[in-house]
Amino acid sequence: MFNCDLHCHSTCSDGLLPAADVARRAASNGVDMLALTDHDDLEGLPSARAAAAVAGMAFVNGVEISIEWESLQIHILGYAFDAADPALNAGLTSIRSGRIERARRMSAELAKVGIGGAFEGAMRYAANPSLISRAHFGRFLVETGVAKDLRSVFESYLVPGRPGYVDHRWATLADSLSWILGAGGIAAVAHPGRYKLSRADMRRFLAEYKELGGQAIEVVSGSHTQEHVDTFGRLAREYGFLASRGSDFHGPGESYFDLGQLAPLPDGLKPVWEAF
Ligand code: AMP
Ligand code: MN
Ligand code: MN
Ligand code: MN
Repeated sequence: MFNCDLHCHSTCSDGLLPAADVARRAASNGVDMLALTDHDDLEGLPSARAAAAVAGMAFVNGVEISIEWESLQIHILGYAFDAADPALNAGLTSIRSGRIERARRMSAELAKVGIGGAFEGAMRYAANPSLISRAHFGRFLVETGVAKDLRSVFESYLVPGRPGYVDHRWATLADSLSWILGAGGIAAVAHPGRYKLSRADMRRFLAEYKELGGQAIEVVSGSHTQEHVDTFGRLAREYGFLASRGSDFHGPGESYFDLGQLAPLPDGLKPVWEAF
C-alpha cells in the first residue's frame, strides 16, 4: 500500500513536535507521502519539506482552515497549493488575528468557575502564540488536574454549553474554498464524522461544499470510527468526492494514531493524492 498521511500538526499550531521532526517521524514510520496541515498557518511547511527531502519522502503543502458553517466550527484542509499565494496568506492572517482575543475571553470564562491563570497557562504550551488554540488550554487543564486527559477536557470544558467556551468568528466556507482553490490547491473536509450535524444537514453541507468547488473529504481519519469510515466512504462515492486519509497526529502520547498508522482507504474510492 502507498502510505499517505495527509493530516498532522507541528508546534507551528497545536502539535507537540517541530515541523522537521514531524516529517522525520513520518518517514521512519514508513509514510510514503506526507502533508503537514497546521491550523491556519503555513510557517512549518519549508522545514517539513526540507526534512522530507532528506528522508526521501514525498511532501505536499497542507493547511487546516478553521471555518464557521451555520454556527458550527468546521475544518477544511487545503493541499498542494502555492504557499506564497497572497490571498491565501492574507486570509490565514485574518483568522489568526482573532485567536489571542478569543483566548483571553476563554480564560475569563474559566475564571468564573474558579480556574485561574488559564491564559498564561495555555500560552506556556503555545510555541506559536498567534495560534493559541483550545488544545493548549486543554493541556493546561490536564496539567492542573481539572481533567484527567484531553478527551475528558473536551467533554466537560471548552465546548458549547460548557465552561471556557466562547463564540468566535472564523472564515466562511466560501472564503476557505476561494483561498485554497485560488492558490491552485485541492480542498478536503477534515474528519467529517466529528461534526454534530444531522444526516440531512450533513448532506446540505456537502452539497454546498461541492457547489463551491470542494473536491475531497477525509474518509480514513484518526478521529473516525469504522462506522464513520463506511458512512463517509459511501458519501464520497455518491457525491463524487476524492477520498483522503490522515492521522491528525498532534504528538506522541497524545494522539491515538501515530503518523501513517491508519487503515487503508476502502476499495472503490479515488485517492485524493492521485490528483496532486
Ligand atoms: P481551536 O482551533 O482553538 O478551536 O482548537 C481546536 C483543537 O482542539 C483541535 O484542533 C484539536 O487539537 C483540539 N480538540 C478539539 N476537540 C478535541 C477532542 N475531542 N479531543 C482532543 N482534542 C480536541
Ligand atoms: Mn489541533
Ligand atoms: Mn481538525
Ligand atoms: Mn487537525
